[in-house]
Amino acid sequence: MMIAWIPELLYAERRFESGMALVCDDAGTITRIARVDDLKDEKKISLARRAMVPGMVNAHSHAFQRVIRGRTEYRATDRDSFWTWREMMYSAATRLSPEDIYDASRMAFLEMALTGITAVGEFHYLHHTPDGTTYDDPNLLAKEVLRAAADVGLRIALLRVAYARSGYDTEPNPKQARFIDAETAAYLKNLEALASGLRNPTVREGASIDRDDNTILPDRPTPAGLPGWGPRSRVSASAWVGVAPHSVRAVPLAYLKEVISYATERSMKVHMHVAEQPAEVSACVEEYGRTPVALLESEGLLSERFTAVHAIHVTPKSIPPFAKTGAMVCACPTTERNLGDGVVPADEYLKNDVPICLGTDSHVQIDLLEDARELEYHLRLQKLERAILGGNPIVRVGASSARQDPGTLPHDRVSDIADLLFDCATVNGARSIGAPTGALEAGKPADFFTVDLDEPTIAGASKDDLLASIVFSSSRTAVREVVIGGKPVVSEGQHLIQEEVIERFSDLQKRLWG
Ligand SMILES: [Zn+2]
Repeated sequence: MMIAWIPELLYAERRFESGMALVCDDAGTITRIARVDDLKDEKKISLARRAMVPGMVNAHSHAFQRVIRGRTEYRATDRDSFWTWREMMYSAATRLSPEDIYDASRMAFLEMALTGITAVGEFHYLHHTPDGTTYDDPNLLAKEVLRAAADVGLRIALLRVAYARSGYDTEPNPKQARFIDAETAAYLKNLEALASGLRNPTVREGASIDRDDNTILPDRPTPAGLPGWGPRSRVSASAWVGVAPHSVRAVPLAYLKEVISYATERSMKVHMHVAEQPAEVSACVEEYGRTPVALLESEGLLSERFTAVHAIHVTPKSIPPFAKTGAMVCACPTTERNLGDGVVPADEYLKNDVPICLGTDSHVQIDLLEDARELEYHLRLQKLERAILGGNPIVRVGASSARQDPGTLPHDRVSDIADLLFDCATVNGARSIGAPTGALEAGKPADFFTVDLDEPTIAGASKDDLLASIVFSSSRTAVREVVIGGKPVVSEGQHLIQEEVIERFSDLQKRLWG
């Protein structure tokens, strides 16, 4: 049975159109985008007063850090910084049981789904017991995170982190014992076991999840008449793995080379924290005589499968050689401002055609559109100008460069920054983590969200300025439906298992913090 979703406005090929329907098959794959007048015997689902946009991709997450939200916003030392925040994060990381990690991850993923995120790149570095002993199943904690994503319905790239040491010329920190695979052989063995488990459909649907599929979902009436939303329905998400050397600080060069060559042989995605803090850059210069970006570039470790997370403290001169490798940057502006990391030089990256994707990282706030607008806003504050990323050559292809009266600008100029930022949140994120999503096109999964056109933060927008209203002005309360692989996971702004997830997470927080 074909299903035709019929919103009032549908965003495809960078513009909103009315009178269009998204048609998908039983498997949740988009078969075509058709005019409503051309529909045949598809089951029609009307989404009145809704605009439909592709689901967003959150390319960088540490789900468990959701437990420290609200608990680090005070001054603990004379000069508070990333490094003092990190100590607080470690104190939480060392206290979580496998079940706690499941509950914290489920809370983070639930919040993502409610904001229109349909796929996540989870940069996962909690591997062992708090004292560093390996669990009977060395991937136990990764599987808890995967189970959480499956329950919420998100697609997930489990980016398994390699973490070998505390830092160059640094004493081991006992609080990092949970993260460390000191030998590459152990790291690669565990990664391989996780990857082959996920390739096996039996494991994917049950055994690795290690729990009766249906126990989590409460019986509840079907809201809003949406198909696939009902008692005991299970949303199955797709999951895959990627390689994530933590940083040049935590992974020495020989280890890094081995892990990246493993990824290269298997065409796996590689994510790595790069140049987040000046201290990381200076330690790298001390150890190797090169900055992190120069080290990675000169050792041939960058490629179009590589995403450098943060990439803030870089020199303009280092960007063209980085760009030549095809590597991407993942900016996490909400976390970066919270931690005092600095400002991603997005204008310099874009001038060199480096694609940028976005992540919510520490989850101090989960709202990828907020990250999208901050990518531009931080540069405005720094440069005392407006519209910094506007008129980017990538966006301007085919558009006239002549000055025009802003009142008569065509669509592709009115919202050029919003288009670019929305690409960062969708297609670029999908490319970074290897998700099959990011755009509403035939052949891709039906992963989308809707916004309510009468919601106060976007009310009155026309189809020409709607995307800019969504990107720059909307609140997450505008998000009403979220559909992943053709299956609704959020309806009328409520997630299928919202109450239970929140209840268990609240219990966890009480146990952790009293
Ligand atoms: Zn991170």
